[in-house]
Amino acid sequence: MSYIEPAPIKDKENPLDSMMSRFDEAARLLGIDEEMYNILKIPARQVIVGIPITMDSGRIKVFEGYRVIHSNILGPSKGGIRYDPDVNLNEVKALAAWMTWKCAVVDIPYGGAKGGIACNPREMSAGELERLTRGYTLAMLDVFGPDRDIPAPDMGTGPREMAWLMDEYSRAKGMTINAVVTGKPLVLGGSLGRMEATGRGVMVCAFAGMEKLRINPYKATCAVQGFGNVGSHAAMLLHERGVNVVAVSDMSGAYYNENGIDIEAALRHLDANNRSLEGFTGGEKIPPASLLTLPVDILVPAAKEDVIVEENMHKIQARMIVEGANGPTAAVADKVINEKGILAVPDILANAGGVSVSYFEWVQNRLGYKWTYERIQRRSDRIMRDAFERVYETSLQYKVSMRIAAYIVAIDKVARTYTFRGGY
Ligand code: NAD
Repeated sequence: MSYIEPAPIKDKENPLDSMMSRFDEAARLLGIDEEMYNILKIPARQVIVGIPITMDSGRIKVFEGYRVIHSNILGPSKGGIRYDPDVNLNEVKALAAWMTWKCAVVDIPYGGAKGGIACNPREMSAGELERLTRGYTLAMLDVFGPDRDIPAPDMGTGPREMAWLMDEYSRAKGMTINAVVTGKPLVLGGSLGRMEATGRGVMVCAFAGMEKLRINPYKATCAVQGFGNVGSHAAMLLHERGVNVVAVSDMSGAYYNENGIDIEAALRHLDANNRSLEGFTGGEKIPPASLLTLPVDILVPAAKEDVIVEENMHKIQARMIVEGANGPTAAVADKVINEKGILAVPDILANAGGVSVSYFEWVQNRLGYKWTYERIQRRSDRIMRDAFERVYETSLQYKVSMRIAAYIVAIDKVARTYTFRGGY
């Protein structure tokens, strides 16, 4: 099919190009025709706004804000808002598509979207950020909505920004509408279990994978790159269930202990040290890059994109990779990882625990009810486990990696839904 031009695989890849090359491969395997390919590829809506803000100095500065709705075929679109100096329309477009596939693969009734403002939140005061968030919300009044498009936090934003967004939207509509955004503080209708949701999904995928590979969790070893929201919770949950986490790392370095890192102690260290592992003595310091090539059963990259790349792909010894981060494996490394027989649970599946609990937040807001922690854990574990099985079965059926299988599951779901309903 000539309309699907193979995406070039470069030495230094952009994770978003990597995503598109996998999307194209899955579309080819599914035999998606040209019309459907374009429906799935071209975003439904792209909005760019200028947001004039009075800075603390009294001067007015105009920021550029974006919201891209990639798809609303499965339901209202869902996706985070990023505050970063490098935010641009192209990046937002690609991240919005990523959300479409992530929601579809775990079978939640959402399309994909993403937003962002080109700004440097580290150099702005709380007052400036509040005015910016409220200005962005007003500019996006006809885009956002609990039945239309539901934002969430991403890089540079958190519960505080989501609270401002909810308040401004509610003020404009004349009533409190907390289901317009997720990732809110608990008191404003945030959900229990959101903090650890992504790490928990990683743990569920790791256990599902160990079952397939017949690895005994009590004898399994694991290395976790990144000890932030995703990595620290994944490490703790695996450790609690008997997996021997022998290495962890963050920006300060990598720490190795063949008898197992005491994860509780590492978390206490984080609390006492401004969220850094710097000075942690529960493991020997090793070169950060070597964490990825340790002879462990499970490798969890949970820091950043493009860490399993051409230079180290041949040296990976793990039997299984569970991608907590978005885009940690460059497309160029896929083939080698597969040839080595490593089971790689791809990002769009492995880190979808977060968006699943965001979905529960929205459901609870709409019900006007609060679920218990146990109910949230049970339901999110089931979503992740079912999705894992679906993707695993698809990988056997098509004789492809779990990564391509995840895209096949997602693309097939969106394409079939479109065929039934048509587009509005
Ligand atoms: P975070 O900022 O809480 O933590 C990132 C961690 O990685 C920190 O410990 C940091 O020190 C460490 N780190 C950064 N660069 C590193 C490097 N070069 N080597 C080793 N460690 C390094 O971020 P997070 O929310 O945990 O997100 C991590 C990844 O997971 C990102 O790719 C993010 O897009 C993805 N993700 C997060 C969520 C979520 O719910 N938080 C959901 C889906 C995907």
